Amino acid sequence: MNLPAPSDLTLAEKASLTSGDSTWETAAVGDRVPAVVLADGPHGIRRQDPASGDALGLRHSIPATCFPPAVTLGSSWDAELARRIGEALAAEASALGVHVVLGPGVNIKRSPLCGRNFEYFSEDPLISGVMGAALVTGIQSLGVGACVKHFAVNNQETDRMRVSADVDERTLREIYLPAFERIVREARPYAVMTSYNKINGVYASENRWLLTELLREEWGFDGLVMSDWGAVNDRVASLAAGLDLEMPPTGTDERITAAVRAGDLDEALVDAAAERVIRLVRRVQDIPRHDGWDVDAHHELAREAARSAAVLLKNDDGLLPLDPAAAQRVAVIGEFARTPRYQGHGSSHVVPTRLENSWDALRAAVGPATELAFAPGFTLDGTPDAELLAEAVAAARRADTALVFLGLPDRAESEGYDRTTLALPADQIEVLRAVSAACPRVAVVLANGGVVDVASWQDSAGAILEGWLAGQAGGAALADLLLGFHSPSGRLTETIPLRLADTPSHLHFPGSDGHVVHGEGRYVGYRHYDTLDVEVAYPFGHGLSYSRFAYADLEVTGTGDDAWTVEATVTNTGDRFAHEVVQLYTAFTEEAPSRPRHELRGFTKVGLAAGESRRVSFTLTGRDLARWSPSRHCWRVDPGAFTVEIGASSRDIRLRAEATTPGDGLVDELGPMSTLGEWLDHPDGRRVLGEHLKRAGAAGLAREDSPLIGLARGIPLIKFSTFGIGLSPETVAELVAAVRGTATH
Ligand code: BGC
Repeated sequence: MNLPAPSDLTLAEKASLTSGDSTWETAAVGDRVPAVVLADGPHGIRRQDPASGDALGLRHSIPATCFPPAVTLGSSWDAELARRIGEALAAEASALGVHVVLGPGVNIKRSPLCGRNFEYFSEDPLISGVMGAALVTGIQSLGVGACVKHFAVNNQETDRMRVSADVDERTLREIYLPAFERIVREARPYAVMTSYNKINGVYASENRWLLTELLREEWGFDGLVMSDWGAVNDRVASLAAGLDLEMPPTGTDERITAAVRAGDLDEALVDAAAERVIRLVRRVQDIPRHDGWDVDAHHELAREAARSAAVLLKNDDGLLPLDPAAAQRVAVIGEFARTPRYQGHGSSHVVPTRLENSWDALRAAVGPATELAFAPGFTLDGTPDAELLAEAVAAARRADTALVFLGLPDRAESEGYDRTTLALPADQIEVLRAVSAACPRVAVVLANGGVVDVASWQDSAGAILEGWLAGQAGGAALADLLLGFHSPSGRLTETIPLRLADTPSHLHFPGSDGHVVHGEGRYVGYRHYDTLDVEVAYPFGHGLSYSRFAYADLEVTGTGDDAWTVEATVTNTGDRFAHEVVQLYTAFTEEAPSRPRHELRGFTKVGLAAGESRRVSFTLTGRDLARWSPSRHCWRVDPGAFTVEIGASSRDIRLRAEATTPGDGLVDELGPMSTLGEWLDHPDGRRVLGEHLKRAGAAGLAREDSPLIGLARGIPLIKFSTFGIGLSPETVAELVAAVRGTATH
């Protein structure tokens, strides 16, 4: 269909395009511009039944595959898997008449308490960006649009519609923005959704720097910016800042037309927004529509994802896997084994096409020699129940092994509010303690979206399998792992701390008086724990396997232009096929207090047969070594040595090599307030100053062997005029002019 240009539309028609028509649809203009249908979300399509008249009833959408949410998918560290899930989401979207999927969510897990952490990938921007980009690529490969959210710095639910996230520029650039940047540059999403919150005092939805200067002008975003649902406070201000589409509609189009007529809003801005809405329509209007999708195949994909994502935190004496053919008695304890908690609460909630639980899956998979018994152990509402406890202990007493399914109940974490504790419900811990006293072999299987405390109870479990929120096929996936049909290969994308008080944002979360100061700066997650050597329960990147892996032959080869190829050989030294996640970190060799101890710069997941080796390869570029300079507002690469680390977690580095970067060659401009040390370290400054001091007979001031040089290096040059040692303000001005090449003599 040929779509009109903004110049073919009236001002009122253009204004109408910048707001939705209903909760899930953009506005149509007669039969000239059709509407676009939007739907959540990140891990499954939540298409509200248009016939039901219920736009918001979160649990009443049309059934669709409930894939594992981002916390889980992220833990797979498998971008190719994310891409395939993206394709599956797009197939379902197109069958359900949806043009744009409202996801992925790539906010950084700043605190484990954020109620919505289950919708996000990681505490690390690289893994968030890589997984998000893969999902977007998959979704858009079928012509359906993806909408990356929540742009930006939406790292908590508390006061999310008003709070100002106060973050310094370097932290923004190095932690909170890179995932969005990577996705925009590499996967070119059709849309971006603003967050509700303010950033340094300005609402994201009214933030011209964010939406126009950064997103469009610097990153080259050519798609549409929409608001989060209800995130617009002032439509005129939003439009002027670069927001194209208000969702859902507030019926205030006349404010736009009136502002244009009054000369308060440039009509060109309305044209630009309308043009971007029309561009979105153009991009998605011809999506091939399918009658349905392969429900079984998508369920299997959900199972594969859950299986690839569960993290085996501990496994003393090879307690897991259980041999499904062995003559044994296994007690399956915990309501979650029968009633799985498999996704989070809020706008991302999907009505699944089917639902598997671990109790049924285990029963279906074990051989006749294995006797299984089930006891719920506890209630999901947390009401202590002595009878359930006694029944669980009795089952444990009769068993060789107890599999105890613990987790956070639905109400414990959700969109809309944050947690206040990392603890699992007390009644569940009581059941675990009692079961462990009654049965020698206990494996805990966890269901939770945000990280939970394990340190206080893990002595009661020989093994812990962190299943996260495992999606609709999670029950079967966990059985696959517990029975050893597959080896666990998930890795932590978020550190599990020993105590809540150890978490870097603890003193600043969730803020007060309308502000949340990001006082920990760039030291989020392992960047904090590893830099300060804080003991943790399980480090970032950790996850055990039923096999073992050896690492060898690290080679770092410069390929010119400040780029390197990093290669290493990984060998499966165990006796079964398994996956390993090889992680690449960079660190600065000289102690640099302004930099984290090390940072993740690459990862790859490899499947290896017993005894098999594989050479893995990564590319490092100057940007991987760069830091953001808040004074120059650009990326800077300092010259010098750096360390390349290859490991199995941030605390399990197996190989190290050194390399050197020449740096970016940029030199800071000198001025009167530049210190003597900065003058001496500057290639021209040293010469210009040296010549002057020689002429003035004061060469001693800058001699490196002078006893006062240490003190003097830190003093701005202009201050020497105050100290009466021959550098008058006029002389300093001449030196500055000379070094900047503007001297007239
Ligand atoms: C959420 C978004 C979601 C939107 C529409 C908002 O409350 O923050 O993530 O896409 O609702 O359901």
